Amino acid sequence: MRQVFRERECNHRDEGADGEFYNGAFYVQALQQLPINRAMEVAGKVGSFFWADAQNIRVWLCPRCAGELNLGDSPRSISQVARRQA
Ligand SMILES: [Zn+2]
Repeated sequence: MRQVFRERECNHRDEGADGEFYNGAFYVQALQQLPINRAMEVAGKVGSFFWADAQNIRVWLCPRCAGELNLGDSPRSISQVARRQA
């Protein structure tokens, strides 16, 4: 199987917000920890994908959406992981 990363992004990227890429698996994990109505709200701002593909997806989130997913302060964004491994 080819490892092809696909990208999704929240709809604030068009507004020029700063953001970071997150691993799709972390994004899905974070969504699952939210109450369903809030999860639907956040998911509605981000391009959808099959959760089974999450490992191959990078999700760009602005700080606000990352915060709603409680991803904002965690060392889970791809660039932070890269820095730790460098
Ligand atoms: Zn956003």
